[in-house]
Amino acid sequence: MKKKYGMVVDVDKCTGCYACFLACKDENCGEEFPGYTAAQPMTGQFWINLTEVERGTFPKIKLSHIPKLCAHCDKPGCMQMAENGAVYKRDDGIVIVDPVKAVGQKQIVNTCPHRVIFWNEEKQLPQKCDLCAHFLDQGFANPRCVEMCPTSALVFGDLNDPDSEVARLVAEKNPSSSHPEFGLKENVLYLNIPKKFVAGTVVIKETDRCAKDVEVVLKGNGVERRVETDVFGDFWFDGLENRTEYTLDIEAPGYKKISLVPDTLSDVNLGEIFLETEAEH
Ligand code: SF4
Ligand code: SF4
Repeated sequence: MKKKYGMVVDVDKCTGCYACFLACKDENCGEEFPGYTAAQPMTGQFWINLTEVERGTFPKIKLSHIPKLCAHCDKPGCMQMAENGAVYKRDDGIVIVDPVKAVGQKQIVNTCPHRVIFWNEEKQLPQKCDLCAHFLDQGFANPRCVEMCPTSALVFGDLNDPDSEVARLVAEKNPSSSHPEFGLKENVLYLNIPKKFVAGTVVIKETDRCAKDVEVVLKGNGVERRVETDVFGDFWFDGLENRTEYTLDIEAPGYKKISLVPDTLSDVNLGEIFLETEAEH
């Protein structure tokens, strides 16, 4: 079976260090790779970039970084408006903007809903990530961004090889497109894209101390999840669906049961929740 290159990005593993971004700049800025890409300009283009997503309200805040690059789609929107075969998909799945044929075709920039094509005003050329195809064709296993990622947040390889790490991740963890609604059949897929969370802090009212190891149960949307509060009395339920009403129960021996109904219209910080002893009736 022929190769089909793809990538799985684990957002939970991305620390926002920008090593991938810098590796892309190092490889492509000022470097021409005839047949693959013209040089990336020193400013204004980001063939891989990070989108920062901040969620919640103080003190329950989560910050995520989502690496964003061309997804080398099976149904590439960018090919539709390109003339003279200026954008094409290689047999291995990599989508290339031909640096000669694409000259003057500014319309290509706006055909990608992921907004990962950039216009080079000086060269009158649309440009984007080609997964370092020149590098792969020399026998290297990974694009430069993947090589440089210190946390293995980016996993690249042959999706058609069941023994590859990337194929294993797809089979076992079911990563998704960052925007499945575009319908482009992307081959850069994501794990742990931020969803909504419900968090809070359990406190013992009588002593005003954090309540550690208290079981908190969240139910809704067909799932039931349990966590125990940490040493600060904190609990988190992350990865929840948007706009969903959940029930949250807190029960500890000797204390009155607490039931709440958080709604994930946004991330929910329930604040301090006080456990009262049953004797306080
Ligand atoms: S992500 Fe955009 S530029 Fe990349 S292949 Fe898909 S449509 Fe084309
Ligand atoms: S190199 Fe890896 S950890 Fe650093 S920003 Fe890029 S994807 Fe995230």
